[in-house]
Amino acid sequence: MLHYSCDVCKRPIDTDHDIRHVVKIEVFPAVDDATGIGGGTTEEADHLEEMHDILERIGESDDELPFDDGTRSMRFDLCDSCRQRFVKNPLGGKPGKHLDFSNN
Ligand SMILES: [Zn+2]
Repeated sequence: MLHYSCDVCKRPIDTDHDIRHVVKIEVFPAVDDATGIGGGTTEEADHLEEMHDILERIGESDDELPFDDGTRSMRFDLCDSCRQRFVKNPLGGKPGKHLDFSNN
């Protein structure tokens, strides 16, 4: 039987009793024409910067790729309580309330 553990709180997830939630994060450079699609480009740039900060935190123990175009595809297993916290604040925006992704 496969054992999963929550990537946030590190607790084991017993899939007989608990629901394992999967968070997939894909980050890639937005290639927008100056003409734009829909015109919300400044907002998107902000989000990309936030994601960059998070990625730096998450990725510090990961292998560094020699070529980095900013593309990331990540997958996390979350227990139910961490899933609830995550969906309320997926980017960990408020100081002191960020998710402990890098907690060892
Ligand atoms: Zn958890």
